[in-house]
Formats: sequence, C-alpha cells, structure tokens
Amino acid sequence: MAHHNYDVLIIGSGAAGLTAALNLADTLKVGVLAKAGLSEGSTAHAQGGIAAVLEAGDTFESHIEDTMIAGAGLNDRRTVEFVVEHAPAAIERLAALGVPFNPTEGEGHDRWHLTREGGHSHRRIVHVDDATGRAVQQALEKAAQAHPNITLITDMMAIDLVTGRHAVRYSGDGRVRGVYALHREKGHVALFTALRIVDPDAPTFASRQCFLQQFAIVKIDRHVDLARHVIRSVILRQHFAEKLCRVEIVFRQIFPEELAAADDVSLAHGE
Ligand SMILES: Cc1cc2nc3c(=O)[nH]c(=O)nc-3n(C[C@H](O)[C@H](O)[C@H](O)COP(=O)(O)OP(=O)(O)OC[C@H]3O[C@@H](n4cnc5c(N)ncnc54)[C@H](O)[C@@H]3O)c2cc1C
Repeated sequence: MAHHNYDVLIIGSGAAGLTAALNLADTLKVGVLAKAGLSEGSTAHAQGGIAAVLEAGDTFESHIEDTMIAGAGLNDRRTVEFVVEHAPAAIERLAALGVPFNPTEGEGHDRWHLTREGGHSHRRIVHVDDATGRAVQQALEKAAQAHPNITLITDMMAIDLVTGRHAVRYSGDGRVRGVYALHREKGHVALFTALRIVDPDAPTFASRQCFLQQFAIVKIDRHVDLARHVIRSVILRQHFAEKLCRVEIVFRQIFPEELAAADDVSLAHGE
C-alpha cells in the first residue's frame, strides 16, 4: 500500500481546507486530500456572497445579534463572536489573494458593493456577481498550487482514521495518526499519515461516513414529485447519520440546486 507522510494532513480542498493549508504552509509540509476534483465541494457552488461588518454605522454587536436570532439561540455565542469579528479581515485576505469582489460604483461610497440578505439588519454581503464561491475557490486553489509546501491530492476519499489500534504495537490512546483513503475510480487504498490531521468538518466526519454508506438506500423515483423526494432523502440521511453515529444534526439547509442534482442521484443508483 502506498504511504504518504506530511507534517499536516488536511481533509478537504474547499474554502476551509485551503485556507488552513495556506496559513500553515510557510513553516510546515501540508497535504490536502479531496475526495473528487479540487473544486467539487460546496465552496464553488456558493452564490450570494460573504457577510461582514463593512457598512458605515454597522457594528459587530448588531451582526452577532442578527446571527443569534437566525440560529434560534442555538449557536455557540463565542464561535459567532469569533467569526463575526474576524470576517472583515478574512475578506481583505481573500481580496489580496485576487478575489474580484464587485466594487461600489461611484466615489465616496463603501469600497465593495454590499447587498442585504435575509436576517441581516444592515447591508453586509460582499459578492462576485452571483458566483462568489467559484471566485473564492479559484483564488485559493491558485495560491495553494503555487505554494511549494502544499501538495494537493485529488480523487482520494478518506474512509477510515488511522489510530493506535492499527499500529504494530497496539495503542488505545485514540490519537489520530492519519487516514486510509480510497481512490474512487481505480479502487486502490493508500495510507496518509501526519503529525497533525485537520478535518475542517471534524464533527460531521462520522455523519459523512454514514451518509456514504446509507445514501444508496435512498430511492428517488424520477416519476413523482422530485422536490418532495429530495427533501425526504435529506431527512432520511440525517436520520440514519444520527442513529448510527450518535450525532445530533439540528439544521440542514436545502438548496434548490439539490433538485437539479436529483437526476444524478437516481443515475448513481442505477435507476
Ligand atoms: C448551492 C450553495 C450555495 C451557497 N451559498 C452560500 C452563500 O451565498 N454564502 C455563504 O456564506 N455560504 C454559502 N453556502 C455554504 C458554503 O458554500 C459552505 O459553507 C462552504 O463552502 C463550506 O466550505 P468547506 O471548505 O467547509 O466545504 P466544501 O467547500 O464543501 O469542501 C469540502 C471538501 O471536503 C472534501 N471531502 C469531503 N469528504 C471527504 C472525504 N471523506 N475524503 C476526502 N475529502 C473529503 C471534498 O472533496 C471537498 O474538497 C452555499 C452552499 C451551497 C451548496
């Protein structure tokens, strides 16, 4: 079995994974795993834009309160505060990487054109036309590809964590030393180890594995109302993930694009 070793292994090549890679790569050798192509996560599909306090008169307190209300008070307030307070700097960083946020037309206004979306009491959304995520993904990929310390590995899906129980000398310490990853087309498995493993979606790793295994049983009949079936399939997957992995998924957002994907789902299961 092929074995690859890095200082840090990051699972995922979306906005979270590539940002983490770029932040670490000046001092560490970083490997980034993607289960498909580099751009085939949610990031490249995001459309509307990114929220931050950028408008004169807006405040972090207001953005935090709007976010707590939108999350029905279930959000972790410290996380909300951290994200809101760091959002303007994150947007500056993306602009410096080359994300061409739409500018405001005319002099004497805000630097970027801001839109206002549901739940926000101010105009906060910077955007690149209606394809913000694609522009963000492209800029991050370009920067990561140019970095000598970053290795981008596509089409390798992490299927299991490597812990002490896999070692020649058994250890029950639970420390994660790497992952086994499957090449989805060629079918071979490779071992990726590192001093540190970063899974930006770590809390949902288990649920993702369940989705992987349970998705096949979700049947979508193309002859009936697709919308109803897509929503039911999402709820079913959530139900199985919660039952099998003992995770609690409180919110799941359903995008209209899932309806477009419904045909692919049917095809994937030979229907
Ligand atoms: C249609 C749509 C519109 C959206 N619009 C907006 C918006 O306007 N504004 C906004 O803020 N957010 C929006 N979002 C949400 C936003 O896109 C996501 O929150 C964000 O992109 C998540 O980034 P990420 O890096 O965590 O995940 P992703 O970009 O999804 O990346 C996940 C990565 O993990 C990899 N991966 C997953 N499992 C494995 C595995 N087992 N092994 C190896 N690799 C694996 C994938 O290959 C991928 O590279 C939208 C999402 C969608 C789908």
